[in-house]
Amino acid sequence: MTDKVAIVTGGNKGIGYAIVDKLCSIFDGIIYLTARDEELGLKAVQQLQESNSDAKNKVKFHQLDITNVESIRRLADYIKKTHNGLNILINNAAIAFKANDATPFGDQAEITAQTNFFGTINVCNALFPLLQDHARVVNISSRYKMLDSIKNAEIRQNLIAPDATIESVSDILSDFIKKAKQNSHEDDGYPASAYGMSKVALTAATIIQQRIFDDKPHRDIVVNACCPGYINTDMTSNKGTGTPEQGADTPVYLATLEPNVKSPRGELVAERKIVKW
Ligand code: NDP
Repeated sequence: MTDKVAIVTGGNKGIGYAIVDKLCSIFDGIIYLTARDEELGLKAVQQLQESNSDAKNKVKFHQLDITNVESIRRLADYIKKTHNGLNILINNAAIAFKANDATPFGDQAEITAQTNFFGTINVCNALFPLLQDHARVVNISSRYKMLDSIKNAEIRQNLIAPDATIESVSDILSDFIKKAKQNSHEDDGYPASAYGMSKVALTAATIIQQRIFDDKPHRDIVVNACCPGYINTDMTSNKGTGTPEQGADTPVYLATLEPNVKSPRGELVAERKIVKW
């Protein structure tokens, strides 16, 4: 099959749902709305197909729990068998504990990192080999509590060092989890936010992913991280100031960057502009 293919993780609600909706109008191919809960995912696809005429032939569902390696493998196998490749990957799925959650901080750190960072990296590891030339990858990160929230200059430096690797960033995050479990993370210069630390690591990983793809410039594969803004979704307990549609704008812009675009590549982008983090 020669269809172009896009995958959006965590597409059953919030910004992910709005991304699929928006992609329908501008992406000429099949869009997989994925969700960890099959019932919620199928319901979301049905809702989209009822409200957006472009969605009828374009949007399909596939189950994907980004913390489950079997689920990731099933999706990768299916895409390889059915389409032989992938043109857009939007890593949107993530979690954030509410401020009043009673879960011990060490556990919050571990669960958040396992989903937002390690889960996303596992999805990338499984799907990157299927990326077609000119593919676009978007890692939805955050501007909130970025590099400056890490008080330890050595950790900051190691995250953005030119020779940093996915493994070295993973090791830093694992150390954060270890220290969080000992309740010494702040003494060691890590931030007080598990969500913030998971997203800093994801932004750092994005730069590394682009660096690796740049070894084969003719393939023109572009990876960017982005911040969608402060958006009214379940994650923000509906306190965000922007709509999910507004939150979907930058991710969809990055997912559809024209062939051989010079910039942005391996950046953090918000409101369609490169931002410092
Ligand atoms: P929501 O909580 O509304 O949606 C999160 C989505 O991720 C849901 O579909 C959820 O599924 C899914 N998800 C969570 N864990 C997994 C998993 N293990 N496997 C697959 N899917 C999973 O959040 P938003 O729409 O607000 O957030 C979307 C992205 O934007 C996230 O990466 C978030 O960190 C980022 N972001 C959001 C901001 C905001 O203001 N809203 C600000 C900055 C960044 P389920 O329904 O099953 O829980």
